[in-house]
Amino acid sequence: MAEIQLRNVHKRWGSFVGVEDFNLTIADREFLVLLGPSGCGKTTTMRMIAGLEDVTEGEIAIGGKVVNNLEPKDRDVSMVFQSYALYPNMNVYENIRFPLKVRGVDPTTHDEKVMRAADMVELRDFLHRKPAELSGGQRQRVALARAIVREPNVFLMDEPLSNLDAKLRVSTRAQIKNLSHELAVTTIYVTHDQIEAMTLADRVVVMKAGIVQQVGSPTDIYDTPANTFVASFIGSPAMNLIEGEVNGGMFHSEHTLIDGVNLPDGKLVLGFRAEDAWIAQDGEAGQINAPIYTQELLGDAVMISVRIGGALVSVKADKTYRAEIGETVSICVPDTICHHFAADTGARIG
Ligand code: ATP
Repeated sequence: MAEIQLRNVHKRWGSFVGVEDFNLTIADREFLVLLGPSGCGKTTTMRMIAGLEDVTEGEIAIGGKVVNNLEPKDRDVSMVFQSYALYPNMNVYENIRFPLKVRGVDPTTHDEKVMRAADMVELRDFLHRKPAELSGGQRQRVALARAIVREPNVFLMDEPLSNLDAKLRVSTRAQIKNLSHELAVTTIYVTHDQIEAMTLADRVVVMKAGIVQQVGSPTDIYDTPANTFVASFIGSPAMNLIEGEVNGGMFHSEHTLIDGVNLPDGKLVLGFRAEDAWIAQDGEAGQINAPIYTQELLGDAVMISVRIGGALVSVKADKTYRAEIGETVSICVPDTICHHFAADTGARIG
């Protein structure tokens, strides 16, 4: 049983706050992703769980036991880093076996354990090679096997795919997902890549400047982002956000007029996703009427973008749609597809 609890966890270096008041219970066997831009405190949070960084204030418990004062080696966690940290003069077999030797695991079991871990990451044919004779993806798989071989209760992974090229990232990502399912261990995974987060996570924690912005399933954070930061961080492209004003149930901004907005008069940030809006057809009256700034062929669709208040606003059109840059396009954005955020705090208001 490896439920992990963070209770009022803070990390400070002098007056600088790295992580502020982090509270979360991570369920046994859950795949949790910490997501956010560089410097938001993801790695620090994970390092505190691993015991590589002291907790300034608050408590961390693993399997019901407070671990604040436990050495990393006594926490039953395995870490996989972005830099594979393999031993260059050991071959793959020896690298995978290393944690078993260090921990004094019965040597008669080593061979079976190493082979099983190597099989899981499809490395059996590479056991005699040195790290320098492997590709980046293969090295990352050795690092994964070395974490697996310990049979930990908790896996901590810090951007394990970031050194791989785009194609390898996708296949290794699928392998990690499959492994975590097969091994049924609690996994905490750090990334700044929202697609990785969405595809891997049971739940995602979105962080900004040391503060948790939202915790939820990938669907939750995509469908109901808690604020403009989450809305603009999740999704490809990110949610369109338009600053404007409501007046008598009518939202208006540059090139934009949306009626039926059931909110009090005043400033508002209105959001919608590119795939929820559409180009007006057959005399339909759109809510945004603006010149096309750019269009991008995506293969299965065309992304049409206009500029509103200096920001790009995009709509996904049918792949056969063709128009000229500068031509006025009419985009249907009824209020029913819109998200509403407070203009001052950015918090979701409906
Ligand atoms: P990245 O994606 O770039 O790895 P991150 O979200 O993992 O970023 P952290 O490494 O957790 O960010 O760092 C959070 C903040 O704490 C950053 O502003 C960083 O500069 C600061 N920080 C990290 N370690 C220390 C330290 N030892 N002393 C002072 N500040 C630190």
